[in-house]
Amino acid sequence: MNLDIKLHKKDLPQEIKFSDKIAIDCEFTGLNIERDRLCLVQISSGNNDAHIIQLDKDSYDAPNLKSILEDININKLFHYARADLLFIKKHLGVDVKSINCTKIMSKIARGYTDKHGLKDLIKEFIGIDISKQLQSSDFGGELSDKQLKYCAQDVIYLHKIYDSLNKILEREKRINLYDKTIKFINTRVELDLASFKEDIWSH
Ligand code: MN
Repeated sequence: MNLDIKLHKKDLPQEIKFSDKIAIDCEFTGLNIERDRLCLVQISSGNNDAHIIQLDKDSYDAPNLKSILEDININKLFHYARADLLFIKKHLGVDVKSINCTKIMSKIARGYTDKHGLKDLIKEFIGIDISKQLQSSDFGGELSDKQLKYCAQDVIYLHKIYDSLNKILEREKRINLYDKTIKFINTRVELDLASFKEDIWSH
């Protein structure tokens, strides 16, 4: 498959416009919100393309990206939105609008498995076995071609996965439950930022 990968420094160029549905993923220097930082934001329109934005770690000045994230008319497909939104909220300071999360969709749709990783969903719905080997690599500096491909891989399949999960949720009449669950995502992220990490509903 031919991938159209574009690396942008600091921000998305202003001339790039997206349709009403984009896939988004982020890469960090680690998973600890206290000490790690947001490095990359990847966006795909769903046509085998990936725009990889390498953020400026000192200023996080990215007005074009921020306006897309805040655009209520652009549906954003994440996989595990909780982590991405946490780092976006802290470093870019925006409240992302119109969020969907294929991991939450999968948990509500696919009761027949406990495997809800992106790799598992790509295997089931796209039929290929991708490598997550570069998941733990240094995204803070210059990026290798392999890293760029890895980053692209995390966004190019999300439109198809979203459609497949949507069909199951519709068929099983769980779409309303999913819609209500995903509405809570920004509150869940606020709880994370306030260090309420556990399931606050648990006894
Ligand atoms: Mn990723």
